[in-house]
Amino acid sequence: MTEKTPQGNNFDNWLDSYAARANTLSVSEVRALFAVVSRPEVVSLAGGMPYVSALPKELLESSYESMMASRGNLALQYGGGQGDLQLREQIRELMALEGISSSVEDIVVTTGSQQGLDLLGGLFLDEGDVVLAESPSYVGALGIFRHYEAHVEHVHTDDEGMDPDAMQEAITRLKAAGRKIKFLYLVPNFGNPSGVTLTEERRHRIVEICRREHILILEDNPYGLLYFANKPPVALRSYEDDCVIYLGSFSKILAPGFRVGYVLAPPAIRDKLVLANESAILSPSSFSQMLISEYMAKADWQGQIDTFRGVYRERRDAALDAMREYLPGLKTTRPDGGFYLWVTLPDGVDSKAMLPLAVKELVAYTPGTAFFANGTGQSNLRISFCYPTPDNIKLGIKRLASVINLQSELLETFVSKTGGVK
Ligand code: PMP
Repeated sequence: MTEKTPQGNNFDNWLDSYAARANTLSVSEVRALFAVVSRPEVVSLAGGMPYVSALPKELLESSYESMMASRGNLALQYGGGQGDLQLREQIRELMALEGISSSVEDIVVTTGSQQGLDLLGGLFLDEGDVVLAESPSYVGALGIFRHYEAHVEHVHTDDEGMDPDAMQEAITRLKAAGRKIKFLYLVPNFGNPSGVTLTEERRHRIVEICRREHILILEDNPYGLLYFANKPPVALRSYEDDCVIYLGSFSKILAPGFRVGYVLAPPAIRDKLVLANESAILSPSSFSQMLISEYMAKADWQGQIDTFRGVYRERRDAALDAMREYLPGLKTTRPDGGFYLWVTLPDGVDSKAMLPLAVKELVAYTPGTAFFANGTGQSNLRISFCYPTPDNIKLGIKRLASVINLQSELLETFVSKTGGVK
């Protein structure tokens, strides 16, 4: 029988049996919030859940029916480790929208791009290897890098994306110290969590530096097609095919429930990825792949992406309006696409410590600490505007403002009465 600790955690009789790497698994700050924020009275600006209600369910149903009639037995069967050829052809078209020319031979379908990142972590990272990453960086990728016991070196990032000079400085310093830099991990369009887009000029410089320094680039681009006005610059992969591994996903432009993503890699890496994929999961879900493929063949999928752009633009506008109205003094990024705003708090206010107070006021966000491997990020928080309605976003930010302002006032009173902690 399993006994419970007072906190409700299970006692573990197997502590001696785990591999050392099991200790690298910890509850992500985003996941830990899920239970609380699912209460209907809480406005969640925390998770990055796509607004799947905007999908045409009838079209998905009819795609299901025609797919089962034409490829039903295949869809219910194991498939190849590289993924369905028909879907890979369609993925080529999708990537062409971001300026990428590719061959179906070099595409590997994965169980969401998260699994693509995990396979790449397993292929490249030994304990102590270095991964260069933006500052802040995607929490799910940081978890994988930690799992493979890599050291994440955050590189200075501003409103134009990662700073190439700071990246060069970090590379020179780390190489001089004898460290092995395995890759640069980037979300160049409408980053998670920053909302920032890497400028074209910096894309060229970053690719050039990485090529010269023999460092692979992992270009993770789930949001690139969700722009609100102008398209972002073309993918880094379109300038360079030997040193860029490109990751894409159907999660944000269709639905995450399918769990289908893809990796485009140079041939030698692609071969290893297929073997790693087969070893991990035998084959990605034939059923999901064939349903997506049928939907893309039948439906106006680009029109649907336009619909999503409209939905998220309206929500971004609601979030920025509410920030202007309720928190006018705070610095926030102004994303031109994607799901997220990155907010800088008043001096001394700690986003992690403030979260329980915010939840008490019925609003949730993700503390900035989730997006750094080095324990920083207390003075930032991420607001996701993808899921709640525009009215709820405004309500959530109004509630958040009352919590932040109270914290800030308390701090000021404390400092003026005591002179602060000496
Ligand atoms: N990369 C980034 C930057 C993301 O934001 C996400 C999802 N939040 C993923 C990868 C993983 O997405 P999926 O596995 O659903 O494709």
